[in-house]
Amino acid sequence: MGHSQNDLHASLKKYFGFSQFKGLQEEVVRNVVQGKNSFVIMPTGGGKSLCYQLPALMQEGTAIIVSPLIALMKNQVDAIRGISDEHGIAHVLNSSLNKTEVKQVKTDILQGVTKLLYVAPESLTKEEYIDFLQSVKVSFVAVDEAHCISEWGHDFRPEYRNLRTIVSRLGDDIPIIGLTATATPKVQEDIIKNLGITDAKVFKASFNRPNLFYEVRPKTANVDGDIIRFVKQNAGKSGIIYCLSRKRVEELAQVLQVNGISAVPYHAGFDAKTRSKYQDMFLMEDVDVVVATIAFGMGIDKPDVRFVIHHDIPKSIESYYQETGRAGRDGGEGHCLAFYSYKDIEKLEKFMSGKPVAEQEIGNALLQEVVAYAETSMSRRKFMLHYFGEEFDEVNGQGADMDDNTRNPKEKQEAKDDVLKLLRTVRDTNEKFKSKEIVKTITGQMNALVSSHKAHGKEVFGIGSDQSENYWMALIRQMLVAGLLKKEIELYGILHVTKKGKDFLAKPKSFMMTKDHEYSKERDEAIVS
Ligand code: ADP
Repeated sequence: MGHSQNDLHASLKKYFGFSQFKGLQEEVVRNVVQGKNSFVIMPTGGGKSLCYQLPALMQEGTAIIVSPLIALMKNQVDAIRGISDEHGIAHVLNSSLNKTEVKQVKTDILQGVTKLLYVAPESLTKEEYIDFLQSVKVSFVAVDEAHCISEWGHDFRPEYRNLRTIVSRLGDDIPIIGLTATATPKVQEDIIKNLGITDAKVFKASFNRPNLFYEVRPKTANVDGDIIRFVKQNAGKSGIIYCLSRKRVEELAQVLQVNGISAVPYHAGFDAKTRSKYQDMFLMEDVDVVVATIAFGMGIDKPDVRFVIHHDIPKSIESYYQETGRAGRDGGEGHCLAFYSYKDIEKLEKFMSGKPVAEQEIGNALLQEVVAYAETSMSRRKFMLHYFGEEFDEVNGQGADMDDNTRNPKEKQEAKDDVLKLLRTVRDTNEKFKSKEIVKTITGQMNALVSSHKAHGKEVFGIGSDQSENYWMALIRQMLVAGLLKKEIELYGILHVTKKGKDFLAKPKSFMMTKDHEYSKERDEAIVS
């Protein structure tokens, strides 16, 4: 069943009117059409949908598209129906359909009309649907937003865990294509394991957004004033301001309005009508700014959002990347400004304290990465891309000077000797500690863990007491990014010395470090407590 290159291009043109594939699309489509498993990791806007829509349209049978959001499914179904005379070419199968509608969907599938069938994961667990789908030809199963499988993703959904079993019940060797915009290696590993597609060909696009400028500012008591000033400096431009709570959303929207800025609030507490009214006002440019909780943004495709401000720091780098990713979709400028204070981190920790222990530990590990991002003095782009498992050349890479730290570099200092001390401390405590305990050990402070591992008896205990805890934390982060140390994510951040780190121990060389920003004194207190 070979499809030539010409076939693919002809179909692309025929169904979508595009004359060229974007990025890795062509290779993905070819792989899917060949009946092989695929795993696609592309940032939002990268063109993931086409990777399964085109193969579905080209092939015999019906492709099942698993997606978590009914609204998104409906949009896609409408879009597909728009390119065909055949209304039944795409359907959603869910509990909102009445008997007649379900019957129509089934008829269309059985007659081979339906090429794409969108289902929510919970619908797919229904025996009635499984029975039916067992009797039809399924071309492949696409699992959209596949990060929902992983507890390390930003949107874990337990129903996603059953998909492998269900797909196996639908037939032998049904190819699977998983798709996500979540780039962390840990989530990717979970997805591949859980979907049982270890043989999948992996297609990963770069997550670099060269046109976005990243900046972090300290959050003071006058953060509202700072935001007003920023928005006024960017008068007439579209922007999103994210806040953590609904209450803050409403207050800030009001403060902006009082100060002559056209802004609307948006959060899930408003009824559907109000929400869509405010959303439309923003999309139609009746207002410049929307002040919102994270409820705003999923599936919103406004190309010319010029800034995304975080009044409160988000709970993971992943979320931050997703939320800031809504800026500059047209390739034009996009300013991503986050206000940060360590107090907000503690607030987020408190939110989590009621949750199950495992969830808390994951949450805290993710949060520590946010702290590191906010406090680092290195290229924020490099930091973020490293977090996503991607190398970035901070001198020649695309968008290399597009962040506050690179524009206003802090002075660097030689840290060769301290790097050695840290490497030795990690090695000599048998690679059993997370950053926090390593810092305790090197600065010579006892705590329960340090004493239970008898670290206070080691030669390295206290060899770095001449420097502050913040200094060592900063150096650890920079060594992680430089690849001298590695963090074991499954074990919530246990540090290891890498091969590169061992080479450094054997043959030390220059290591230029920048000190982290010191945002507030509270930080110092928070870390010792
Ligand atoms: P994702 O799901 O990765 O966020 P989408 O599938 O929504 O991305 O695609 C993003 C945008 O790119 C859409 O507007 C889509 O029409 C457009 N697009 C996708 N593929 C192509 C292509 N080959 N040529 C031109 N535009 C494309």
